[in-house]
Amino acid sequence: MAEITIKDIFTCTQCGYCCHGETTVSLDDNDQRRMVKSLGLSEKEVKEQYWRVTGKIVQMKTVDGHCVFYDKGCSVHHGRPWRCAQWPLHPSLLLDEDNYKAISESCPGINREISYEDFCRKLKHLIDEQTIIYC
Ligand code: SF4
Ligand code: SF4
Repeated sequence: MAEITIKDIFTCTQCGYCCHGETTVSLDDNDQRRMVKSLGLSEKEVKEQYWRVTGKIVQMKTVDGHCVFYDKGCSVHHGRPWRCAQWPLHPSLLLDEDNYKAISESCPGINREISYEDFCRKLKHLIDEQTIIYC
């Protein structure tokens, strides 16, 4: 049987859709630590320059309708939040075809040439083989 690779189900087109909007995903404690380390700045500097803090919710600032780190791609790739790292191949896609349909309509990188069942079989294989690592 031919080897299954991520390209069988997804190839990012760099369209930028997932990085646009007036709000971003939120960052948990691990995300915050990883981002601070990745940027090589102090937490105070990162907070001032890049984060929008609302009570206990920490998100990234937005500029011109997109995440502050978006620059024709993610400029903080290794320090990005886990929710960004999971998109669009979230394990919940395996359980909810409606969610799959909604995400595949938003993200042009998802291979819509294959059936939902085939997509799930391949995604599950990649998750089980740890080809997809969720940070
Ligand atoms: S929406 Fe999909 S194809 Fe577009 S940048 Fe995001 S992950 Fe890539
Ligand atoms: S951190 Fe990177 S991947 Fe996440 S929304 Fe911002 S630019 Fe996009």
